[in-house]
Amino acid sequence: MPENTSNKTDVVVLGAGIVGVSAAYAARQRGMSVMLVDRREPGSETSYGNAGILSSGSIFPLNQPSLFGNLPKYLSNQHPALRWDLGWALRNPDWIVRFLASARASQTKPRALALHGLIKASLKLHREWIVTAGAPNRIRETGWLKAWRSDNIAVAKADQAALAEYGIKSELLDRQAISALEPNILPVYSVGLLHTETASVDSPGNVTKAYARMFVGAGGAIRQAEIKSMAPDGDGWRVVLSNGEIRARHVVVALGPWSPDVLRPLGYRVPLAAERGYHREFVPNASRKLLRPIHDAENAFLMTPMENGVRVTSGVELTARDAPSSHAQLDEVVPLARGVVEFGKPVGDVWRGARPTLPDSLPMIGPAPRHSGLWLAFGNQHIGFTTGPATGEAIAAMIGGAKPTFDTSAFSPGRYL
Ligand SMILES: Cc1cc2nc3c(=O)[nH]c(=O)nc-3n(C[C@H](O)[C@H](O)[C@H](O)COP(=O)(O)OP(=O)(O)OC[C@H]3O[C@@H](n4cnc5c(N)ncnc54)[C@H](O)[C@@H]3O)c2cc1C
Repeated sequence: MPENTSNKTDVVVLGAGIVGVSAAYAARQRGMSVMLVDRREPGSETSYGNAGILSSGSIFPLNQPSLFGNLPKYLSNQHPALRWDLGWALRNPDWIVRFLASARASQTKPRALALHGLIKASLKLHREWIVTAGAPNRIRETGWLKAWRSDNIAVAKADQAALAEYGIKSELLDRQAISALEPNILPVYSVGLLHTETASVDSPGNVTKAYARMFVGAGGAIRQAEIKSMAPDGDGWRVVLSNGEIRARHVVVALGPWSPDVLRPLGYRVPLAAERGYHREFVPNASRKLLRPIHDAENAFLMTPMENGVRVTSGVELTARDAPSSHAQLDEVVPLARGVVEFGKPVGDVWRGARPTLPDSLPMIGPAPRHSGLWLAFGNQHIGFTTGPATGEAIAAMIGGAKPTFDTSAFSPGRYL
């Protein structure tokens, strides 16, 4: 991707994941000069390795009332949905207490409404941008299937009713209907809920790269460098890079799981946890293709047909962001995935990433409380690929002094900083 080495700009966006690329493009669309900085190519980290689901229905985060019922099985540290590290838990009791407090029933509706607004705005942008970016072939409007092996119709119906309260459509399916929808999978599921308004992409990394090219095409600049530090400088900011520095009126921190690192020296202690996850891809069987992402509800894994193979993604591993990998969760679910859809050998190695999550599972979108010209855009947890565009567009609107198209009050950084 073309690089720019000029060192003065209106806006510098730190991080070229889906959130940073989106903020950069949206700011450029508003006529600002924008520099996007990342040590890697755009879309090479969390925005590369996710399951590629553009989810209309992910308005109830992991910390919802049902979490309390599941706690006994999660505490055993054997469930594929959640593995947790005792050392990490002992070092982060505040995050855990606040995460659990947000799971209370009284917290459900305000957060679901906030996320629904963000998701709706973001899906609209994805559907527009993917066409403008010349990648319309990467999006599939085939929905997302959540499926239960046991005859768990009551749970599926409750899920459907909860979504319907927010106007989100889904279809309840029995075993025959699931076979008709996904003729190439084995009949292991008794009940399914098809999220009909959800889309998916065949390569989230390449979609992010396509958006980055669209940004450059619109006159934006990208610089590949390690971000070392940043500090207020006159009426703007000075960002120190491994290969020089940039001066800008505004800085947007969109560093996903790494965001707290650059904010700590400014006196901000961001309670961001890394909900780590893994994926591995496998050679698909050409005559037994998966047609859409499937979420195995009881075993907490996903299977998604991707450009390079069937991608199996794991549940959550709650530990330090940079702790050594453990493939235990993935090893447990890959054989279960093989029991659903035939696939061949692995393509490449196991990938690991981290869902950046604040205790209330809402992102931070807005100004830093104690510094003018500093904007925070991170913490998009399990749905950052879905919500990246509207997160970025809202930040660009705020920088430009305009009102975002959806209500961002629940995402104010001031709630934690
Ligand atoms: C297993 C898994 C499955 C998921 N599935 C889905 C899904 O199906 N749908 C969905 O919507 N979301 C999903 N997510 C969540 C989603 O991937 C993330 O929320 C989203 O990608 C976060 O994007 P981001 O731009 O904030 O961060 P990132 O994509 O991680 O971008 C941050 C960037 O900052 C750069 N960076 C960091 N530090 C520095 C530095 N010091 N100098 C220079 N550059 C730096 C990194 O190189 C990186 O490119 C999933 C996540 C995981 C882990």
